[in-house]
Amino acid sequence: MRHAFAGHGASKGLALGRARVRLPHALEVTEQRVPASRAKAEGARLQEALEATRAEMRTLREKLQGALSKEAIEFIDLHALLLDDPELVQALHALIHEEHYSAGYALRVQRDRLAAVFRSMDDPYLRARLDDLDHIIGRVNAHLHRHDPLPRGTAGEVLVCENIAPSEVAQLQAQGVVAVVSAAGSPLSHSAILARSLHLPLVVGASDALSRVNDGDVLMVDGESGQLVLDPDAGDLRYYRELQQRQQRERRGLERLRSKPTRTLDGVDIALYANAGSREDVARARTVGASGIGLYRTEFLFLQDQQTPGEEEQFLAYRDAVLAMDGRPVTFRTLDLGADKADSAGLALANEENPALGVRGVRLSLLYDAVFDTQLRAIVRAAAYGPLRVLVPMVACREEMMIVRRRLRRAVSAVRRLGVDAQMPPLGAMIEVPAAAIGVDTLADAVDFLSVGTNDLVQYLLAVDRNNDALGDLYSPLHPGVLRLLAHVIGAGTRHGVPVAVCGEMAGDPRLAPLLLALGLREFSLHPGALLELRRAIRGCDLAALQARAPRLLQARDRRGIERWLQQAR
Ligand code: PEP
Ligand code: MG
Repeated sequence: MRHAFAGHGASKGLALGRARVRLPHALEVTEQRVPASRAKAEGARLQEALEATRAEMRTLREKLQGALSKEAIEFIDLHALLLDDPELVQALHALIHEEHYSAGYALRVQRDRLAAVFRSMDDPYLRARLDDLDHIIGRVNAHLHRHDPLPRGTAGEVLVCENIAPSEVAQLQAQGVVAVVSAAGSPLSHSAILARSLHLPLVVGASDALSRVNDGDVLMVDGESGQLVLDPDAGDLRYYRELQQRQQRERRGLERLRSKPTRTLDGVDIALYANAGSREDVARARTVGASGIGLYRTEFLFLQDQQTPGEEEQFLAYRDAVLAMDGRPVTFRTLDLGADKADSAGLALANEENPALGVRGVRLSLLYDAVFDTQLRAIVRAAAYGPLRVLVPMVACREEMMIVRRRLRRAVSAVRRLGVDAQMPPLGAMIEVPAAAIGVDTLADAVDFLSVGTNDLVQYLLAVDRNNDALGDLYSPLHPGVLRLLAHVIGAGTRHGVPVAVCGEMAGDPRLAPLLLALGLREFSLHPGALLELRRAIRGCDLAALQARAPRLLQARDRRGIERWLQQAR
């Protein structure tokens, strides 16, 4: 039956497709019944999932025989035994055939019943067997949802899941998934940034998606507004087609701006750089007339193969980006990974309680000499093919920039020794750490340029985790403290003659363009897919009028005041 609900739009685009539900390990399933006529098919689905799990356990046991301790094998045997327990199997079938529960919900009900029994046991050993039960039920559940009871269509699928990892995004798109809906997640996460870069519609924070959507349901997704419609009716489908046509018309209108300058109404040119995480982003940046690449996130190269790429592989990727931009500068950000992602890049880092405050960004680079020097050499070699710059993430203090400058100089010398006519590239710092923002004057003579990473700056300044959807609206750049700090950084850059860009997601939001222009920003770096929209917004701005209203903006005492200012700026 039709049901409309919503999450947060994280990567725009419309999609219509059959749902593919991936449940988390824990059985977060609310009550679901099937029509009596489907009970038999549901029972068969369960049976197949049980068989598949048994086969999996047998293979595992054979593989591990001799390689593992006797205890480990005993655990596998115990799991197999649990799986064959007639009480479990019969009860599951009874729930499906008599109560008409879906197989997934029957699993959950029976799991909860057995868990209550386990919990009431006096013997701690037996009580601890609840973990084994959960493990085995989790495996059956995974098989249940891997099994697709519906014929495969051609319209593509919408993945509905708890969350997606950045490393999965490209894979999903390559598999032809047309959109992703996740119950958790945030529009500021790296998965969302990557989805935008790959034009994969993504809705995050759709908290009841997993309990509402079943495998095979048709789902309509609007990645911009976050609206979701389950089993859309004729009216929805008409609306979908109209919206699709409207977006195509708008797209065509925007395409006309590709070769137009980004000039305000009163004739001031603004530089629009592109953020890139892939070859496609670089190509798109060129076609939409970006002034260059303002942020090339090199970590995506590390995450994609789940290992540290060598100097040659990195050099080729960087060189190709430089060649593709044909004389427009490419700003390579050195590796920005933390303990949460280092694993996927083949770097073994100790687990940290607070990876966002831990060994990440430049701190990680300065800890892993070989990884950093390899990257710097690869970048310096690529500089022979066109202009590029080096940008350092998560800088907290001047000393870090001084060390990086020395290391970069050393990389230049090493490359020169190979006979390459290498030059020292311009070196910049990302302003993401509040102390670096407040003390930006102290960095001025240690850098050639600055780029404000508002995604992280806002998170650290407001003490709001950018990936925690539960904090909702608390994460917002529209906070008087954020705006005052931005004005301070941009003002310091202007005083010291150091160019300042903003490369966080706020720079790509056309609604915020008047605000950033009023604060003095003249360089934006944003996702290339949003560049034409921003160009259109800036071409409609009168810079002198915005500057005259800047003091009022900085006097705003709360978010509503800032929003009112923005409304009046339109
Ligand atoms: C930022 O923090 O604003 C930024 C651009 O870097 P990332 O989103 O990759 O952390
Ligand atoms: Mg950042």
